[in-house]
Amino acid sequence: GMKQRLLVVANRLPVSANRRGEDQWSLEISAGGLVSALLGVKDVDAKWIGWAGVNVPDEVGQRALTRALAEKRCIPVFLDEEIVHQYYNGYCNNILWPLFHYLGLPQEDRLATTRNFESQFDAYKRANQMFADVVYQHYQEGDVIWCHDYHLMFLPKCLKDHDSNMKVGWFLHTPFPSSEIYRTLPSRLELLRSVLCADLVGFHTYDYARHFVSACTRILGLEGTPEGVEDQGRLTRVAAFPIGIDSDRFKRALELPAVKRHISELTQRFAGRKVMLGVDRLDMIKGIPQKILAFEKFLEENPDWNDKVVLLQIAVPTRTDVPEYQKLTSQVHEIVGRINGRFGTLTAVPIHHLDRSLDFHALCALYAVTDVALVTSLRDGMNLVSYEYVACQGSKKGVLILSEFAGAAQSLGAGAILVNPWNITEVADSVRHALTMSSDEREKRHRHNYAHVTTHTAQDWAENFVCELNDTVAEAQLRT
Ligand code: UDP
Repeated sequence: GMKQRLLVVANRLPVSANRRGEDQWSLEISAGGLVSALLGVKDVDAKWIGWAGVNVPDEVGQRALTRALAEKRCIPVFLDEEIVHQYYNGYCNNILWPLFHYLGLPQEDRLATTRNFESQFDAYKRANQMFADVVYQHYQEGDVIWCHDYHLMFLPKCLKDHDSNMKVGWFLHTPFPSSEIYRTLPSRLELLRSVLCADLVGFHTYDYARHFVSACTRILGLEGTPEGVEDQGRLTRVAAFPIGIDSDRFKRALELPAVKRHISELTQRFAGRKVMLGVDRLDMIKGIPQKILAFEKFLEENPDWNDKVVLLQIAVPTRTDVPEYQKLTSQVHEIVGRINGRFGTLTAVPIHHLDRSLDFHALCALYAVTDVALVTSLRDGMNLVSYEYVACQGSKKGVLILSEFAGAAQSLGAGAILVNPWNITEVADSVRHALTMSSDEREKRHRHNYAHVTTHTAQDWAENFVCELNDTVAEAQLRT
Protein backbone atom coordinates (compact mmCIF):
# COMPACT_ATOMS: atom_id res chain seq x y z
CA GLY A 1 0.00 0.00 0.00
CA MET A 2 0.91 3.67 0.07
CA LYS A 3 3.48 4.69 2.61
CA GLN A 4 2.20 6.77 5.49
CA ARG A 5 3.22 10.40 5.26
CA LEU A 6 4.90 12.20 8.13
CA LEU A 7 5.09 15.98 8.38
CA VAL A 8 7.81 17.01 10.82
CA VAL A 9 7.23 20.58 11.97
CA ALA A 10 10.09 22.34 13.77
CA ASN A 11 11.14 25.95 14.14
CA ARG A 12 14.26 25.45 12.00
CA LEU A 13 14.68 23.43 8.88
CA PRO A 14 17.86 21.32 9.04
CA VAL A 15 19.52 23.46 6.37
CA SER A 16 21.56 26.58 6.06
CA ALA A 17 20.46 28.59 3.04
CA ASN A 18 22.63 31.16 1.29
CA ARG A 19 21.36 33.39 -1.45
CA ARG A 20 23.54 33.38 -4.56
CA GLY A 21 21.44 35.58 -6.85
CA GLU A 22 17.89 36.76 -7.36
CA ASP A 23 16.56 33.24 -7.80
CA GLN A 24 19.59 31.18 -6.78
CA TRP A 25 20.13 29.51 -3.44
CA SER A 26 22.84 27.23 -2.17
CA LEU A 27 21.71 24.84 0.53
CA GLU A 28 23.66 22.88 3.05
CA ILE A 29 21.80 20.12 4.87
CA SER A 30 22.96 19.45 8.41
CA ALA A 31 23.90 15.81 8.73
CA GLY A 32 23.02 15.19 12.37
CA GLY A 33 21.49 12.03 13.79
CA LEU A 34 18.19 13.75 14.50
CA VAL A 35 17.77 14.75 10.87
CA SER A 36 18.37 11.27 9.54
CA ALA A 37 16.14 9.81 12.25
CA LEU A 38 13.23 12.10 11.44
CA LEU A 39 13.55 11.90 7.68
CA GLY A 40 14.30 8.19 7.75
CA VAL A 41 11.50 6.62 9.80
CA LYS A 42 10.87 3.10 8.48
CA ASP A 43 7.98 2.72 6.00
CA VAL A 44 7.18 6.41 6.26
CA ASP A 45 7.47 9.18 3.69
CA ALA A 46 8.69 12.18 5.68
CA LYS A 47 8.82 15.88 4.92
CA TRP A 48 10.10 18.71 7.09
CA ILE A 49 8.34 22.04 7.60
CA GLY A 50 10.14 24.97 9.21
CA TRP A 51 11.87 28.32 8.99
CA ALA A 52 15.03 28.40 6.84
CA GLY A 53 16.76 30.88 9.17
CA VAL A 54 16.89 33.68 6.59
CA ASN A 55 14.70 36.67 5.89
CA VAL A 56 13.35 36.46 2.32
CA PRO A 57 11.15 39.53 1.76
CA ASP A 58 10.62 39.13 -2.00
CA GLU A 59 8.41 36.69 -3.83
CA VAL A 60 11.01 35.71 -6.43
CA GLY A 61 13.41 34.69 -3.68
CA GLN A 62 10.70 32.84 -1.77
CA ARG A 63 9.64 30.86 -4.81
CA ALA A 64 13.24 29.96 -5.69
CA LEU A 65 14.02 28.87 -2.14
CA THR A 66 10.82 26.80 -1.95
CA ARG A 67 11.82 25.03 -5.15
CA ALA A 68 15.38 24.37 -4.01
CA LEU A 69 14.21 23.07 -0.62
CA ALA A 70 11.64 20.74 -2.18
CA GLU A 71 14.47 18.57 -3.50
CA LYS A 72 15.62 18.09 0.07
CA ARG A 73 12.10 17.19 1.27
CA CYS A 74 11.91 20.53 3.09
CA ILE A 75 9.09 23.09 3.06
CA PRO A 76 9.81 26.64 4.22
CA VAL A 77 7.79 28.87 6.53
CA PHE A 78 8.64 32.51 5.83
CA LEU A 79 8.92 34.70 8.92
CA ASP A 80 9.78 38.39 8.66
CA GLU A 81 12.41 40.05 10.84
CA GLU A 82 9.99 41.67 13.24
CA ILE A 83 8.19 38.42 14.01
CA VAL A 84 11.48 36.56 14.39
CA HIS A 85 12.57 39.20 16.88
CA GLN A 86 9.41 38.98 18.96
CA TYR A 87 8.59 35.30 18.61
CA TYR A 88 12.01 33.67 18.40
CA ASN A 89 14.45 35.94 20.25
CA GLY A 90 11.75 37.26 22.55
CA TYR A 91 9.18 34.72 23.61
CA CYS A 92 11.07 31.49 22.80
CA ASN A 93 14.60 32.36 23.84
CA ASN A 94 14.13 35.00 26.54
CA ILE A 95 11.04 33.61 28.22
CA LEU A 96 10.42 29.90 27.58
CA TRP A 97 14.05 28.75 27.35
CA PRO A 98 15.15 30.17 30.74
CA LEU A 99 11.89 29.21 32.45
CA PHE A 100 12.04 25.60 31.25
CA HIS A 101 15.66 25.37 32.49
CA TYR A 102 14.91 26.87 35.93
CA LEU A 103 17.10 29.87 35.19
CA GLY A 104 14.73 32.69 35.94
CA LEU A 105 15.34 35.98 34.17
CA PRO A 106 18.35 38.24 34.61
CA GLN A 107 17.39 40.67 37.37
CA GLU A 108 17.80 43.87 35.36
CA ASP A 109 15.72 42.51 32.45
CA ARG A 110 12.92 41.12 34.52
CA LEU A 111 10.63 44.11 34.38
CA ALA A 112 11.32 44.79 30.72
CA THR A 113 10.42 41.18 29.97
CA THR A 114 7.25 41.47 32.00
CA ARG A 115 6.28 44.59 30.08
CA ASN A 116 7.02 43.03 26.67
CA PHE A 117 5.32 39.79 27.49
CA GLU A 118 1.97 40.45 25.84
CA SER A 119 3.31 41.56 22.48
CA GLN A 120 5.82 38.71 22.40
CA PHE A 121 3.18 36.14 23.21
CA ASP A 122 0.97 37.59 20.46
CA ALA A 123 3.85 37.25 18.02
CA TYR A 124 4.40 33.69 19.24
CA LYS A 125 0.81 32.78 18.48
CA ARG A 126 0.95 34.52 15.11
CA ALA A 127 4.16 32.68 14.21
CA ASN A 128 2.65 29.34 15.26
CA GLN A 129 -0.37 30.14 13.06
CA MET A 130 2.01 30.75 10.14
CA PHE A 131 3.50 27.28 10.63
CA ALA A 132 -0.04 25.88 10.80
CA ASP A 133 -0.99 27.58 7.53
CA VAL A 134 1.89 25.85 5.75
CA VAL A 135 0.89 22.52 7.30
CA TYR A 136 -2.70 22.94 5.99
CA GLN A 137 -1.39 23.52 2.48
CA HIS A 138 0.49 20.23 2.50
CA TYR A 139 -1.75 18.07 4.65
CA GLN A 140 -3.49 15.01 3.25
CA GLU A 141 -5.89 12.80 5.16
CA GLY A 142 -4.05 10.13 7.12
CA ASP A 143 -0.83 12.14 7.49
CA VAL A 144 0.94 12.16 10.83
CA ILE A 145 1.99 15.61 12.03
CA TRP A 146 4.82 15.74 14.52
CA CYS A 147 5.36 19.15 16.14
CA HIS A 148 8.69 19.83 17.82
CA ASP A 149 9.74 21.75 20.84
CA TYR A 150 8.90 24.84 22.88
CA HIS A 151 8.77 27.03 19.79
CA LEU A 152 5.56 25.36 18.66
CA MET A 153 3.42 24.82 21.75
CA PHE A 154 0.54 26.69 20.18
CA LEU A 155 0.59 24.62 17.00
CA PRO A 156 -1.44 21.56 18.16
CA LYS A 157 -4.42 23.83 18.84
CA CYS A 158 -4.15 25.62 15.48
CA LEU A 159 -4.07 22.26 13.71
CA LYS A 160 -6.94 20.62 15.58
CA ASP A 161 -9.13 23.71 15.25
CA HIS A 162 -8.62 23.47 11.51
CA ASP A 163 -9.29 19.73 11.26
CA SER A 164 -9.96 17.65 14.35
CA ASN A 165 -9.09 14.45 12.47
CA MET A 166 -5.44 15.36 12.04
CA LYS A 167 -3.09 13.02 13.89
CA VAL A 168 -1.01 15.42 15.95
CA GLY A 169 1.97 14.68 18.18
CA TRP A 170 4.14 17.15 20.09
CA PHE A 171 7.57 16.47 21.54
CA LEU A 172 9.56 18.71 23.89
CA HIS A 173 13.36 18.64 23.53
CA THR A 174 14.00 20.63 26.73
CA PRO A 175 13.07 19.80 30.31
CA PHE A 176 9.53 20.51 31.38
CA PRO A 177 9.93 22.23 34.76
CA SER A 178 8.17 21.61 38.04
CA SER A 179 4.63 22.99 38.00
CA GLU A 180 5.72 25.46 40.70
CA ILE A 181 8.03 27.05 38.13
CA TYR A 182 5.73 26.64 35.16
CA ARG A 183 2.84 28.38 36.89
CA THR A 184 4.67 31.71 36.98
CA LEU A 185 4.21 31.95 33.20
CA PRO A 186 1.46 34.49 32.39
CA SER A 187 0.32 32.44 29.38
CA ARG A 188 0.35 29.18 31.35
CA LEU A 189 -3.30 28.29 30.65
CA GLU A 190 -3.35 28.92 26.92
CA LEU A 191 -0.13 27.01 26.30
CA LEU A 192 -1.16 23.97 28.32
CA ARG A 193 -4.59 23.86 26.70
CA SER A 194 -3.02 24.06 23.28
CA VAL A 195 -0.50 21.29 23.91
CA LEU A 196 -3.32 19.10 25.23
CA CYS A 197 -5.03 19.37 21.84
CA ALA A 198 -2.35 16.98 20.55
CA ASP A 199 -3.11 13.26 20.57
CA LEU A 200 0.31 12.39 21.96
CA VAL A 201 2.66 14.53 24.04
CA GLY A 202 6.23 13.30 24.53
CA PHE A 203 9.18 14.16 26.77
CA HIS A 204 12.74 12.86 27.22
CA THR A 205 12.18 11.56 30.76
CA TYR A 206 9.41 10.40 33.10
CA ASP A 207 10.16 13.34 35.38
CA TYR A 208 9.42 15.88 32.66
CA ALA A 209 6.21 14.01 31.73
CA ARG A 210 5.17 13.93 35.38
CA HIS A 211 5.82 17.66 35.75
CA PHE A 212 3.65 18.30 32.72
CA VAL A 213 0.81 16.16 34.06
CA SER A 214 1.08 17.93 37.44
CA ALA A 215 0.84 21.30 35.70
CA CYS A 216 -2.33 20.13 33.97
CA THR A 217 -3.91 18.81 37.17
CA ARG A 218 -2.93 21.73 39.38
CA ILE A 219 -3.30 24.63 36.97
CA LEU A 220 -6.14 23.39 34.78
CA GLY A 221 -7.80 21.14 37.37
CA LEU A 222 -7.85 18.20 34.98
CA GLU A 223 -7.46 14.54 35.85
CA GLY A 224 -4.12 12.81 35.48
CA THR A 225 -4.21 9.08 34.68
CA PRO A 226 -1.39 6.59 34.14
CA GLU A 227 -1.97 7.09 30.41
CA GLY A 228 -1.93 10.87 30.34
CA VAL A 229 -4.37 13.70 30.97
CA GLU A 230 -8.16 13.44 30.67
CA ASP A 231 -10.50 16.29 29.88
CA GLN A 232 -14.21 15.52 29.65
CA GLY A 233 -13.64 11.98 28.44
CA ARG A 234 -10.96 12.94 25.91
CA LEU A 235 -7.50 11.56 26.64
CA THR A 236 -4.23 13.22 25.72
CA ARG A 237 -1.61 10.53 25.89
CA VAL A 238 1.55 11.66 27.75
CA ALA A 239 4.69 9.52 27.71
CA ALA A 240 8.49 9.50 27.85
CA PHE A 241 10.51 8.94 24.67
CA PRO A 242 14.20 9.34 25.51
CA ILE A 243 16.01 10.40 22.35
CA GLY A 244 19.20 8.68 21.18
CA ILE A 245 21.92 9.17 18.58
CA ASP A 246 22.89 7.43 15.36
CA SER A 247 25.68 5.51 17.10
CA ASP A 248 26.76 3.74 13.88
CA ARG A 249 27.59 7.07 12.31
CA PHE A 250 30.14 7.68 15.07
CA LYS A 251 31.56 4.17 14.96
CA ARG A 252 31.94 4.41 11.17
CA ALA A 253 33.65 7.80 11.47
CA LEU A 254 36.33 6.32 13.74
CA GLU A 255 37.37 4.03 10.89
CA LEU A 256 38.02 6.89 8.45
CA PRO A 257 41.67 7.71 7.62
CA ALA A 258 41.08 11.42 8.33
CA VAL A 259 39.77 10.68 11.82
CA LYS A 260 42.55 8.18 12.50
CA ARG A 261 45.06 10.86 11.57
CA HIS A 262 43.43 13.28 14.02
CA ILE A 263 43.51 10.59 16.69
CA SER A 264 47.21 9.88 16.32
CA GLU A 265 48.05 13.60 16.30
CA LEU A 266 46.11 14.17 19.49
CA THR A 267 47.58 11.10 21.13
CA GLN A 268 51.11 12.39 20.45
CA ARG A 269 50.32 15.93 21.54
CA PHE A 270 49.00 14.84 24.92
CA ALA A 271 51.31 11.90 25.53
CA GLY A 272 52.04 11.44 29.23
CA ARG A 273 48.96 13.37 30.33
CA LYS A 274 45.40 12.31 31.02
CA VAL A 275 42.94 14.31 28.97
CA MET A 276 39.52 15.43 30.14
CA LEU A 277 36.94 16.71 27.67
CA GLY A 278 34.06 19.18 27.81
CA VAL A 279 31.90 19.92 24.75
CA ASP A 280 29.06 22.40 25.23
CA ARG A 281 27.34 25.31 23.63
CA LEU A 282 28.41 28.30 25.69
CA ASP A 283 25.04 28.52 27.43
CA MET A 284 24.13 29.27 31.04
CA ILE A 285 22.48 25.85 31.35
CA LYS A 286 25.73 23.99 30.69
CA GLY A 287 27.41 24.94 33.96
CA ILE A 288 30.77 25.71 32.35
CA PRO A 289 32.00 28.07 35.12
CA GLN A 290 31.00 25.45 37.72
CA LYS A 291 32.91 22.79 35.78
CA ILE A 292 36.06 24.88 35.57
CA LEU A 293 35.92 25.84 39.24
CA ALA A 294 35.57 22.16 40.15
CA PHE A 295 38.61 21.39 38.02
CA GLU A 296 40.53 24.15 39.82
CA LYS A 297 39.56 22.60 43.13
CA PHE A 298 40.84 19.24 41.90
CA LEU A 299 44.19 20.81 40.92
CA GLU A 300 44.37 22.57 44.27
CA GLU A 301 43.81 19.40 46.24
CA ASN A 302 45.92 17.11 44.04
CA PRO A 303 49.21 18.89 43.33
CA ASP A 304 50.75 15.60 42.15
CA TRP A 305 48.34 15.72 39.17
CA ASN A 306 49.17 19.28 38.13
CA ASP A 307 51.32 18.48 35.10
CA LYS A 308 49.64 15.17 34.35
CA VAL A 309 46.14 16.24 33.38
CA VAL A 310 44.61 18.69 30.95
CA LEU A 311 41.03 19.83 30.43
CA LEU A 312 39.97 20.51 26.83
CA GLN A 313 36.85 22.62 26.83
CA ILE A 314 35.11 23.18 23.50
CA ALA A 315 32.65 26.03 24.01
CA VAL A 316 30.53 26.48 20.90
CA PRO A 317 29.41 30.13 20.58
CA THR A 318 25.66 30.64 20.75
CA ARG A 319 23.41 33.74 20.81
CA THR A 320 26.52 35.92 20.70
CA ASP A 321 24.43 39.09 20.23
CA VAL A 322 22.79 38.71 23.67
CA PRO A 323 24.48 40.63 26.55
CA GLU A 324 23.82 37.85 29.06
CA TYR A 325 25.74 35.41 26.87
CA GLN A 326 28.57 37.91 26.28
CA LYS A 327 28.88 38.24 30.03
CA LEU A 328 29.10 34.48 30.43
CA THR A 329 31.83 34.34 27.78
CA SER A 330 34.03 36.89 29.51
CA GLN A 331 33.35 35.32 32.89
CA VAL A 332 34.57 31.95 31.59
CA HIS A 333 37.63 33.55 29.97
CA GLU A 334 38.51 35.24 33.22
CA ILE A 335 38.31 32.04 35.24
CA VAL A 336 40.29 30.06 32.66
CA GLY A 337 42.97 32.77 32.55
CA ARG A 338 43.26 32.88 36.30
CA ILE A 339 43.59 29.08 36.62
CA ASN A 340 46.09 28.78 33.78
CA GLY A 341 48.12 31.59 35.33
CA ARG A 342 48.03 29.87 38.68
CA PHE A 343 48.75 26.26 37.64
CA GLY A 344 50.46 26.65 34.27
CA THR A 345 54.16 26.07 33.66
CA LEU A 346 56.49 27.41 31.01
CA THR A 347 55.54 24.55 28.73
CA ALA A 348 51.97 23.59 29.63
CA VAL A 349 48.63 24.92 30.87
CA PRO A 350 45.95 22.85 32.59
CA ILE A 351 42.99 24.20 30.55
CA HIS A 352 42.65 24.52 26.79
CA HIS A 353 39.54 26.55 26.16
CA LEU A 354 38.25 26.93 22.59
CA ASP A 355 35.49 29.37 21.67
CA ARG A 356 34.45 27.62 18.51
CA SER A 357 32.81 24.61 16.99
CA LEU A 358 34.67 21.62 15.55
CA ASP A 359 33.89 19.67 12.43
CA PHE A 360 32.42 16.21 12.87
CA HIS A 361 35.68 14.34 12.28
CA ALA A 362 37.70 16.41 14.74
CA LEU A 363 34.93 15.99 17.31
CA CYS A 364 34.85 12.21 16.88
CA ALA A 365 38.63 12.05 17.30
CA LEU A 366 38.40 14.05 20.54
CA TYR A 367 35.64 11.81 21.83
CA ALA A 368 37.78 8.77 21.08
CA VAL A 369 41.13 9.84 22.58
CA THR A 370 40.06 11.51 25.83
CA ASP A 371 40.14 9.72 29.18
CA VAL A 372 37.22 11.44 30.87
CA ALA A 373 34.21 13.44 29.67
CA LEU A 374 32.89 16.06 32.05
CA VAL A 375 29.24 17.11 31.62
CA THR A 376 28.05 19.53 34.31
CA SER A 377 24.79 20.89 32.92
CA LEU A 378 22.70 22.73 35.50
CA ARG A 379 19.66 21.63 33.46
CA ASP A 380 19.69 19.85 30.11
CA GLY A 381 16.81 18.21 28.24
CA MET A 382 18.90 15.15 27.37
CA ASN A 383 22.55 16.05 26.52
CA LEU A 384 23.64 14.19 23.42
CA VAL A 385 27.32 14.94 23.94
CA SER A 386 27.36 12.31 26.70
CA TYR A 387 25.87 9.74 24.29
CA GLU A 388 28.34 10.62 21.55
CA TYR A 389 31.28 10.31 23.94
CA VAL A 390 30.17 6.82 24.97
CA ALA A 391 29.67 5.77 21.35
CA CYS A 392 33.28 6.72 20.52
CA GLN A 393 34.91 5.06 23.54
CA GLY A 394 34.67 1.47 22.31
CA SER A 395 38.40 0.88 22.66
CA LYS A 396 39.47 3.34 25.35
CA LYS A 397 36.52 2.87 27.73
CA GLY A 398 36.86 6.31 29.25
CA VAL A 399 34.82 7.58 32.18
CA LEU A 400 31.74 9.78 31.88
CA ILE A 401 31.12 12.26 34.69
CA LEU A 402 27.53 13.37 34.22
CA SER A 403 25.30 15.92 35.89
CA GLU A 404 22.24 14.45 37.54
CA PHE A 405 20.33 17.41 36.05
CA ALA A 406 20.82 16.23 32.47
CA GLY A 407 18.07 14.01 31.05
CA ALA A 408 20.84 11.55 30.09
CA ALA A 409 21.38 10.81 33.81
CA GLN A 410 18.17 8.74 33.66
CA SER A 411 19.58 6.46 30.97
CA LEU A 412 23.38 6.53 31.54
CA GLY A 413 23.26 6.71 35.33
CA ALA A 414 24.36 3.11 35.76
CA GLY A 415 27.64 3.63 33.94
CA ALA A 416 28.43 7.27 34.59
CA ILE A 417 29.61 8.96 37.76
CA LEU A 418 26.64 11.16 38.57
CA VAL A 419 27.33 14.54 40.17
CA ASN A 420 25.55 17.62 41.43
CA PRO A 421 27.36 20.32 39.40
CA TRP A 422 26.70 22.94 42.10
CA ASN A 423 28.82 20.95 44.54
CA ILE A 424 32.33 21.54 43.26
CA THR A 425 33.88 19.45 46.03
CA GLU A 426 31.85 16.47 44.84
CA VAL A 427 32.79 17.12 41.21
CA ALA A 428 36.49 17.49 42.14
CA ASP A 429 36.35 14.16 44.00
CA SER A 430 34.68 12.56 40.97
CA VAL A 431 37.48 13.84 38.75
CA ARG A 432 40.01 12.09 40.97
CA HIS A 433 37.89 8.95 41.05
CA ALA A 434 37.63 8.98 37.24
CA LEU A 435 41.37 9.57 36.71
CA THR A 436 42.41 6.79 39.08
CA MET A 437 39.69 4.25 38.31
CA SER A 438 40.73 0.63 37.84
CA SER A 439 40.38 -0.69 34.32
CA ASP A 440 37.91 -3.31 35.59
CA GLU A 441 35.56 -0.66 36.87
CA ARG A 442 36.00 1.46 33.76
CA GLU A 443 35.14 -1.45 31.51
CA LYS A 444 32.11 -2.40 33.53
CA ARG A 445 30.75 1.13 33.55
CA HIS A 446 31.46 1.61 29.88
CA ARG A 447 29.77 -1.67 28.93
CA HIS A 448 26.53 -0.47 30.55
CA ASN A 449 26.46 2.82 28.72
CA TYR A 450 27.69 1.46 25.42
CA ALA A 451 24.92 -1.13 25.39
CA HIS A 452 22.37 1.57 26.03
CA VAL A 453 23.66 4.07 23.48
CA THR A 454 23.94 1.50 20.69
CA THR A 455 20.49 -0.01 21.27
CA HIS A 456 18.43 3.14 21.89
CA THR A 457 19.11 5.08 18.73
CA ALA A 458 17.58 8.22 17.27
CA GLN A 459 15.97 5.98 14.67
CA ASP A 460 14.25 3.87 17.34
CA TRP A 461 13.13 7.01 19.10
CA ALA A 462 11.46 8.44 16.01
CA GLU A 463 9.83 5.12 15.12
CA ASN A 464 8.51 4.62 18.65
CA PHE A 465 6.97 8.06 18.72
CA VAL A 466 5.24 7.74 15.35
CA CYS A 467 4.06 4.23 16.18
CA GLU A 468 2.67 5.33 19.54
CA LEU A 469 0.92 8.26 17.88
CA ASN A 470 -0.79 5.97 15.37
CA ASP A 471 -1.82 3.57 18.15
CA THR A 472 -3.12 6.37 20.35
CA VAL A 473 -5.36 7.70 17.57
CA ALA A 474 -6.58 4.20 16.68
CA GLU A 475 -7.51 3.51 20.31
CA ALA A 476 -9.32 6.82 20.65
CA GLN A 477 -11.37 5.97 17.56
CA LEU A 478 -12.31 2.61 19.09
CA ARG A 479 -13.60 4.33 22.23
CA THR A 480 -15.98 6.70 20.41
N1 UDP B 1 28.40 19.71 18.25
C1 UDP B 1 28.74 20.17 17.01
N2 UDP B 1 29.91 20.86 16.85
C2 UDP B 1 30.74 21.12 17.87
C3 UDP B 1 30.39 20.66 19.14
C4 UDP B 1 29.20 19.96 19.30
O1 UDP B 1 27.99 19.95 16.05
O2 UDP B 1 31.76 21.75 17.67
C5 UDP B 1 27.13 18.95 18.40
C6 UDP B 1 27.32 17.68 19.18
O3 UDP B 1 27.83 16.66 18.35
C7 UDP B 1 25.90 17.41 19.68
C8 UDP B 1 25.27 18.79 19.73
O4 UDP B 1 26.19 19.68 19.12
O5 UDP B 1 25.18 16.59 18.76
C9 UDP B 1 24.96 19.23 21.15
O6 UDP B 1 23.84 18.56 21.61
P1 UDP B 1 23.48 18.47 23.16
O7 UDP B 1 22.22 17.69 23.26
O8 UDP B 1 24.63 17.93 23.94
O9 UDP B 1 23.28 19.97 23.64
P2 UDP B 1 22.47 21.22 23.00
O10 UDP B 1 23.50 22.07 22.33
O11 UDP B 1 21.43 20.67 22.07
O12 UDP B 1 21.89 21.94 24.19
